[in-house]
Amino acid sequence: MTGGLRLEKYSFGVGDRFAHQARAQLRACMQAAARGVDVVPVWNKSYREHAIVGSSPASVRAAAQEAVRDLNWIRPFHVDADHIRLDTVEPFIETSDFYTLDVADAIGQAAEPGAVPAFLDRHHELIGSLEIFGLAEPLSTTRGDMEKITGKYLKAVREAGELYRHIASARDGREFITEVSMDETDSPQTPPELLVILAAIADEGIPAQTIAPKFTGRFNKGVDYVGDIAQFEKEFNEDLAVISYAVNRYHLPDNLKLSVHSGSDKFSIYASIRRALARTGAGIHVKTAGTNWLEEVIGLAESGGEGLKMAIEIYGEALDHIEELCAPYATVIDIDPAKLPARETVRGWTSEQFIRSGAPTRSNLQTV
Ligand SMILES: [Zn+2]
Repeated sequence: MTGGLRLEKYSFGVGDRFAHQARAQLRACMQAAARGVDVVPVWNKSYREHAIVGSSPASVRAAAQEAVRDLNWIRPFHVDADHIRLDTVEPFIETSDFYTLDVADAIGQAAEPGAVPAFLDRHHELIGSLEIFGLAEPLSTTRGDMEKITGKYLKAVREAGELYRHIASARDGREFITEVSMDETDSPQTPPELLVILAAIADEGIPAQTIAPKFTGRFNKGVDYVGDIAQFEKEFNEDLAVISYAVNRYHLPDNLKLSVHSGSDKFSIYASIRRALARTGAGIHVKTAGTNWLEEVIGLAESGGEGLKMAIEIYGEALDHIEELCAPYATVIDIDPAKLPARETVRGWTSEQFIRSGAPTRSNLQTV
């Protein structure tokens, strides 16, 4: 299976909510290159982010192209229609070349009658004892286990197939990179679950080059990882083993790699990821969020006067719309409204007070 447009081994998803940071983000890739690591930038912005900010997908490509031109970047770059579904993909058809098929909502929904037994009849290899290089023990499963797992994921993967084919037909021969994401869900996928998902992805003919499973712990936007780092490392290594097995067994693209929707600032797990990549030679896509704009807000507040006024207004507006802004991000934020200072309180703040409250303010504003 070939994916047409081929994603490089190391790629970094960057968000640029207000189209001011593409140059700085590209410069970071250049700094990495200067230190001997080639990282390709992928500008990502989801439908929900466009809807909230009031921007269009074309603006992301325009900002990226301008940065690429200004800095004479000659390596590839991509524009990711992040977390799209059949009902939100349309505006991304012309200007994206990377599509993140988000089918997490369909996890747990029943597949059409007969689909699960037919899948397992086709995939005898999934039942019984299965030795996978890199896993501490062989997987040991019964048909009953696999029925349950397939029942949980088959509908979601079929939806991904439908979405993939829709994009392929709408793009009419123009190549693109495909990611399948199942990260915005409640529990991490186990190795047998990931294996079923990858077998089903191959059955659907989706040339996935990245897959975003859910990992243990919280990947909240704009703040560090919250969770069990050792458990994360274990899951990450298991996922690498399963992917490498599935690539060979199911003829998936040979550059299929993990996409970690880290949501930025996940410094405490980077060492685990680095160790695993060094050991296995695997590639990675790290997808960060566009929360760097909060640094811009801090800069505005720091400048005092009009800048501070604007920062305070942004906070007030965010507070007024907190429910609608938070709803689409429920699985990637933890905000306690009781800890948020009132609009009136913040209105009287100095630059120092605003910045000092930076940590909470940052996590309060992070969804926008
Ligand atoms: Zn995500």
